[in-house]
Amino acid sequence: MNNCIFCKIVKKEIPCNKIHEDEDILAFNDIHPAAPVHFLLIPKLHIDSLAGTQDSHQNLLGKMLLLAPRLAKEQGCEDGFRTIINTGRVGGQEVFHLHFHIIGGRERLPGMIHHQG
Ligand code: 5GP
Ligand code: ZN
Repeated sequence: MNNCIFCKIVKKEIPCNKIHEDEDILAFNDIHPAAPVHFLLIPKLHIDSLAGTQDSHQNLLGKMLLLAPRLAKEQGCEDGFRTIINTGRVGGQEVFHLHFHIIGGRERLPGMIHHQG
């Protein structure tokens, strides 16, 4: 993907504040943090969104989910964190390279979705 900003981060063409890297996955701090801890977990492989995943991505997705709590704890989320995967237009996705937001800190996070009616 030529024009994908996260692929450029994977290729080190754009710098990031990296917190984890292995052969399949990169994690780095969000450039506009929503809380004291806010990092993104991405596959090195370009996948547009969660809606673009296939059966062949099963191991990769499992690896990402297993890594999330480990990294969250390393980053200081001792008592929980929030995982967000914005997907597509309705989900408010802005960068179309699959990413998990991991958000936390010391304080309880505010509610996000307001109940209708
Ligand atoms: P989305 O709305 O697609 O779920 O979130 C995209 C996230 O990527 C946003 O929180 C935004 O701050 C972050 N982001 C966008 N461009 C960059 C960048 O170049 N570097 C980093 N570290 N984060 C970015
Ligand atoms: Zn990409």
